[in-house]
Order: sequence, then structure tokens, then C-alpha cells
Amino acid sequence: MKSVFPRRLTLGQLPTPLHRLYRAENRWGKGHRLWIKRDDLTGCLLTGNKVRKLEFIAAHALDNEFDTLLTCGAVQSNHCRATALVGAQLGLAVHLVLAGQSEDRPKGNLLLNQLSGAKISYYEKSEYKKNLDSILLEWEEYYTKNESRALVIPTGGSDGLGIWGYIRAAQELSEDFKRENIEKAHVVCATGSGGTQAGLLIGSELFDCSSTVWGVNVSDDADYFVRKIISDVDDLKSRSSSFNHIHPEPRIIDGYVGGGYGKANSIIYQLISELASLEGIILDPVYTGKAFHGMITEIAKGRFSGSTDIIFIHTGGIFGYLANTEEV
Ligand SMILES: *Cc1c(COP(=O)(O)O)cnc(C)c1O
Repeated sequence: MKSVFPRRLTLGQLPTPLHRLYRAENRWGKGHRLWIKRDDLTGCLLTGNKVRKLEFIAAHALDNEFDTLLTCGAVQSNHCRATALVGAQLGLAVHLVLAGQSEDRPKGNLLLNQLSGAKISYYEKSEYKKNLDSILLEWEEYYTKNESRALVIPTGGSDGLGIWGYIRAAQELSEDFKRENIEKAHVVCATGSGGTQAGLLIGSELFDCSSTVWGVNVSDDADYFVRKIISDVDDLKSRSSSFNHIHPEPRIIDGYVGGGYGKANSIIYQLISELASLEGIILDPVYTGKAFHGMITEIAKGRFSGSTDIIFIHTGGIFGYLANTEEV
């Protein structure tokens, strides 16, 4: 199987640890064993899930003579920050198309973007939402005209190239399973653009690790993400014939978006601080806090009953949380 992997750069600190959450398990586990896959430890500045995708995306950029990485997201996008720093590490130019406004005193991910020297273009949220594809296309053409070559990386790095990062993470998990004597498990992640879940889903089929992958959506709804994940997998199939036999059926746990993408209520903030004091692990309010909340609520409802092991994928998010200016 190894040979079908496209080339990747080693950018992340991998493999990441998998460990038990004994005190959280006492508090919320209802008899399950609770584990955490520490993808918040993929790097200091490159913390989180995006660097796994960027290992493949950046290799593709170098191999195909792109000199610029062009991508997009919210002002506090973890994906944009990881791309900005990866670009600087590789000597590639980075251009970020961000939804929102520039800030006099940037914080968190935005501060790191600025320090990394990335070029940043801001768009009103409504315009961004309506015209993102054409905005990216215009910038791509701008680079072509200027004798440069920009690789457009979609939101969250989620497409048939980026999802290799989590196909590989599933392979890592299959090693974790062997080491820890886990026979089968439910695997839960936050889903924001679908690539993490898509990769885990395909990877667990490929590497025959008996896991049932669940994504807790942090925006939109279940229908949207089922379609998005299937279209990312179709993109993968169009790039490689090794996947024609795979027909993924994404499982979305809907109902934990709360007030919308990026909006968290006091239940989420309280849960973040409770887990921090129990286990010394910091979740974030946009992604992992909502996903963890969804997971423990579904444990309480019995969704996972009948299986012993539940694995939470910690996908990062600390810099966005530190920049968080919402009421807590
Ligand atoms: C981007 C992100 C996610 C969502 O991953 P997708 O692959 O986009 O679905 C989850 N958690 C954090 C912290 C993220 O930055």
C-alpha cells in the first residue's frame, strides 16, 4: 500500500502520541476507554491537523514548479497560518485570502501570518462567501501574468491531495491499535472542511484498522458534509486509480454547531476549562471543543455502546483560541 502514497515532505512531528484520558474517562466515559490522538502536537508553530495535509500539498507544489501557495480562510484560520509558515520554511511565497478585516494589533494565527511575511488580502465576509472561487481564480491569473505560478489550495487544504495527510494518519492509528491492543474503536474528529474525516475514513478501510469514523460538524449540516466528503474522495479517485473500489459512507454527528461556525456558548468554554484542569489538554472553542462536547453527549446517549474504545482526534486550534476576543 505504501507505494501508492504520493511524495510527501516531512514537516510535522510524526507520529503523534496516542494516550488514555483516565480522568476524563472516569468523568464522561460511561465504561468506555477514552483515548486521544495528539495531533495538537504535530509541531509548535505547525500545531494541528493542517500540517499533515500540507506535507503532501507542499511536495506537489515543489514537484510541479509552483513558487506561490495561494489559499483562503477566516482571519483566525489555522490552515492559513500553517500554510504561511510552511511556505516560509520552504522559500515559497504565500498569499492568503482572508474573510474579514485587517487588525491594528493582530493576535494568534493572524499575528503569525504577518510575521511569516505572507501577503494578505482581506475581503468583506459577504463578498468572500459569494465570490471566493472567482477571487482565487483572479489571483491565480494575476500570478500567471506576472510569470509566476500559484498553487490554489482549497479551504482547509481539503481535496483529493490534502486528504492523503489523514490517510497516512489512519495508517499511524493502525500502528497505535497494535501497540495498545485496541481491536476496534470509534474515532471522533471535528469536521470543518471534511478532509480530516475523509482521509481517516478511507485510510481505515485501506489499512484495515477496525475503526468507525465520526465527524462532528462545526458548521453547515450533515447533508453538506456527506456531499463534501464524497466529492473530496471523487477528486482523490480522479488522481489515482487505486481507489475505484472504495465507496465511503461518511458518518456525521450533527447537532453541535451551536450558534454557528466560530460561535461557542458557555457550555463549550466550561468544558474546555474542565478538560484542561483534568488532563492538561487545551481544546479550542471553534472545532475541538464542540467535537468533544458532541462526543461526550453522544456517549451519554449510548451511541457507542457495545464497543470499548473511543478515540478523539485532537486537531489543534490553540492559536485561534488565544486570539479569541468573544465573551467567555
Ligand atoms: C481545520 C480544523 C479542523 C477541521 O478539519 P477539516 O479537515 O477542515 O474538516 C478541526 N480542528 C481544527 C483545530 C482545525 O483547524
